[in-house]
Amino acid sequence: MKPEEELREVDDQVRACTDCKLHLSRKNAVPGEGPAGAALMFIGEGPGFHENEQGRPFVGAAGHFLEELLASINLTREQVYITNIVKCRPPGNRDPQMPEITACSKYLERQIEAISPRVIVTLGRFSMARFMPEARISAVHGRARTINGRVIVPMYHPAAALHQPALRRVVEEDFSRLPEMIEHARESTPSADESSSQAQQLSLF
Ligand code: URA
Ligand code: SF4
Repeated sequence: MKPEEELREVDDQVRACTDCKLHLSRKNAVPGEGPAGAALMFIGEGPGFHENEQGRPFVGAAGHFLEELLASINLTREQVYITNIVKCRPPGNRDPQMPEITACSKYLERQIEAISPRVIVTLGRFSMARFMPEARISAVHGRARTINGRVIVPMYHPAAALHQPALRRVVEEDFSRLPEMIEHARESTPSADESSSQAQQLSLF
């Protein structure tokens, strides 16, 4: 299946999903959005009020800040893939619970497989914990680590940074180093496109 088709299938399944109790209180599921060929993928915690209303990720205040951060490295939200660790809003924005995260992880796994981004940025501790269960965000934020062949960069959640000037500066600084990390990841892992053009080049000889 083409990545676009796989993402569309995941979207449809998420919108119909009843695999954890978060489906009971959702208005709209929020599968995620962005191009299948995105080099950069962001994984937040879970939909909030506005996301639940609109069925789209990061459309509230945290989303606005995320867009500003993207603009600071000359990217728009349309160029990156944005999703969450759970696709339905935890009531009252409570933390997602372990059975919910576990039930929902199959969708995130399929999204990661389909997109195969150069770099995955986790926003906040729940999405970081999926890749680095033992890590402390204060110690590892902004540092790229390769886990199961994926380059993961944990960052503070923009909602946390929004109202804390010190954290805000940290997130801005971590973001400013992303272009370099994407470039570095490009050098060490040829993308599907590059491998197929290499294969084409080889077939010419
Ligand atoms: N916060 C998140 O973690 N995800 C969203 O989609 C919006 C806010
Ligand atoms: Fe299904 Fe995930 Fe929504 Fe739970 S949070 S109902 S597992 S899509």
